[in-house]
Amino acid sequence: MQRFNCPSCGTRAYFHNMTCTCGEPLHYDPEACAMVLQASSCANRNRIGCNWAAPSQGTFCASCAMSQVVPVLHVGDNQSLLAATERAKRWVLANLAQWSWFTNQDPGRRPYFLMLSENTGGRAQQIIMGHAAGEITINVTEADELIRLKRQLDLGEQYRSMVGHFRHELAHFLFDRLSSNPDFRPAFRELFGDERQDYGQALKNHYANPRDPGRDYITAYATAHPHEDWAETVAHLLHLVDFADSFVSAGLSMSSVPEEFSPYQETDTPRLLSIAAEIAIAVNDINRALDNPDLYPFVLTGPVRTKIEFAHEWLRDHLVRGA
Ligand SMILES: [Zn+2]
Ligand SMILES: [Zn+2]
Ligand SMILES: [Zn+2]
Repeated sequence: MQRFNCPSCGTRAYFHNMTCTCGEPLHYDPEACAMVLQASSCANRNRIGCNWAAPSQGTFCASCAMSQVVPVLHVGDNQSLLAATERAKRWVLANLAQWSWFTNQDPGRRPYFLMLSENTGGRAQQIIMGHAAGEITINVTEADELIRLKRQLDLGEQYRSMVGHFRHELAHFLFDRLSSNPDFRPAFRELFGDERQDYGQALKNHYANPRDPGRDYITAYATAHPHEDWAETVAHLLHLVDFADSFVSAGLSMSSVPEEFSPYQETDTPRLLSIAAEIAIAVNDINRALDNPDLYPFVLTGPVRTKIEFAHEWLRDHLVRGA
């Protein structure tokens, strides 16, 4: 993620900031990818702390407008859970906007979100996150850190976050969008396998007998089905590009990161991945100073890099490829 500046006084501002230290209210304009002066506030600004600019006063910003269903906010912690969930969604949408996804230049379909809470005020509701035909279901209850960590440990995952959920589920939607280019699916199948195999059965098999990711997959979940391999691969591409972008935007440098390196503009995927891996190793070292977990606890094998390269090319060039 880039760093921003207050448009009034020039002080550094971060993506989620609502107000500058100078007192100026901050609004992020998702088209300009910048903090702007005199914008209309999103209707969710006071409710859940959304700092995005809206098309006009009293309307939702581009991100909040995609949330078709939200939980009843006065029940339990739903208001703060939705706030945290929407923060993660805005972050990931801003990442994808770097490659023009869902911006004014992008004439394609948009996803919509069902933001559901397990706490409905009555009987606890079980929620399965996922994507189906443009509809993405997100469990806002997982924005509770303790609950999410418990599930991460139960599932034996190395990493679980709300940003990760959005990257993964949006990847399924992007698969549908990219499929409008007739070259996409045949090329996809060569690398990921045939996604027409029974999805329900594949997931059952996965949960009954989880496979080791080995060298061919980035995570165990990616082994379940080609669709999940794709979603995990895209999520990792977005993790890598975005933390590399944050490294550069923070003004950090190291010998293996070339000057003028611009992760979202980079077209050479092997170069991008090797630089991101170097950054991860360095930040892992820093995290150990505070006994914090590794920034990025994954290994990018050759087969995984090949799949990330495929995803990178299609995600970056989707407009010229008509998808
Ligand atoms: Zn200011
Ligand atoms: Zn909003
Ligand atoms: Zn999935």
